[in-house]
Amino acid sequence: MRSCCRFGIIEGRKTVRVIEANTRAGGRIFTLDNGMECGAEFVHGKLPITEQLIKESGSSLVPVEGKIYQNNNGNWKEEENFIEGWGELMKCLSGLKHDLSLQEFLQEYFSDEKYTTLRKAVTRFAEGYDLVNMNDASTLALKAEWEKEEDEQYRVKSGYGAIINYLVKQILANKGLIGYGKPVTKIEWNENLTRVFIDEDNFFQSKKILITIPPGIWHKGEKAKGFIHFDPAIPRQIDALKNIGFGAVIKFVLDFSESFWNKETPGAGFIFSNEKIPVWWTCLPTDKNRLTGWFGGLSTLDYDTADEKSLLQLAISSLSGIFKKDEQTIQNLITGYQTVNWNTMPYVYGGYSYTTLHTASARALLRDPVAGSIFFAGEGLYEGPYSGMVEAAFQNGLNVAQSILSK
Ligand SMILES: Cc1cc2nc3c(=O)[nH]c(=O)nc-3n(C[C@H](O)[C@H](O)[C@H](O)COP(=O)(O)OP(=O)(O)OC[C@H]3O[C@@H](n4cnc5c(N)ncnc54)[C@H](O)[C@@H]3O)c2cc1C
Repeated sequence: MRSCCRFGIIEGRKTVRVIEANTRAGGRIFTLDNGMECGAEFVHGKLPITEQLIKESGSSLVPVEGKIYQNNNGNWKEEENFIEGWGELMKCLSGLKHDLSLQEFLQEYFSDEKYTTLRKAVTRFAEGYDLVNMNDASTLALKAEWEKEEDEQYRVKSGYGAIINYLVKQILANKGLIGYGKPVTKIEWNENLTRVFIDEDNFFQSKKILITIPPGIWHKGEKAKGFIHFDPAIPRQIDALKNIGFGAVIKFVLDFSESFWNKETPGAGFIFSNEKIPVWWTCLPTDKNRLTGWFGGLSTLDYDTADEKSLLQLAISSLSGIFKKDEQTIQNLITGYQTVNWNTMPYVYGGYSYTTLHTASARALLRDPVAGSIFFAGEGLYEGPYSGMVEAAFQNGLNVAQSILSK
């Protein structure tokens, strides 16, 4: 027997039902009780909606502090701008008129042997930070990203999760409904109605639905937890969703009994090296003895089957290489840790989106709802200066929600 739940308009207001696959709210915002940020952590500049929500939730922004250190084959350097030749690269980019992949761009304009180091450094940066695949990343999109002024960075004082807790409370206070642990598996639709199935027998029915699942699910396809079948099929939209680039990342958060890094890197905020996990950051200005490791890009896919113990070992061996301490010493200092391989995380399968050569047309197509009733939103659908960020998800979600209400 199929059970159905309708939702629509009650007392002149739209009722909203959130159907969440996971057993918690927040998606890629994933703050643990001990304050570890396993997903989003930074607020990159003054971001209107994020800032407003932080204020409303009763939290505040804390500017990120600390020096930037670079370790090159055991030698420490303290500096801001690491990529030699970056100015020349940006000058060349500023004159670029036609789009091509970043790989093609470097081959076309920086193939000379004298640029070998620059090519490697740019590749490392684009793969590691922007999480792009060099073969399909749009150079014009990266140019826009890299031309932006470097804004001050912040953390949310009580953790990003504070915004999520606040939003959940707001939804419930406004008679919205949230169901956890209910992955949508199928959507049946026609011109008048959509049926959202959480299993063969149970569905919700509505005139309009908004789908915000991450692009990683569409890339992985039917094997992905969270994949949704449509009846009738919507192949053009699914192809478009696959044309939104989605980067790969593994994050490591380690607590220690002491800040052992203060000897080589006093007052460190960020530590860069050529180790497997190339980027680490501290928690300054707080006094937590915590290091967070960032490993982004396609090479992280080699660890798809690695268990938590192997990932911890990878972190220990990287720190051992950077600080020239034996692994056992580092191991003995660890008091707690969390490793999160986002590439294999059910209902997500990746870090954040990037723009490929086909993403602009894909996003344009996805702006049109299917049959005026199935809308798509989320950070992957966002186009603008906050690409890949929490702010992108908020702005895009708000715009699409407003457009639903106006129809
Ligand atoms: C490691 C990491 C670090 C990051 N760092 C930063 C940072 O410092 N600053 C920043 O601004 N951004 C950062 N980001 C990016 C930021 O987290 C995302 O851009 C943003 O949270 C995306 O929000 P979203 O709502 O679009 O998607 P998500 O947060 O991924 O939400 C999608 C939701 O859909 C649910 N879902 C999936 N499938 C189904 C289904 N079939 N049925 C029902 N529900 C489903 C998922 O469980 C999830 O809750 C980071 C991301 C990662 C992974």
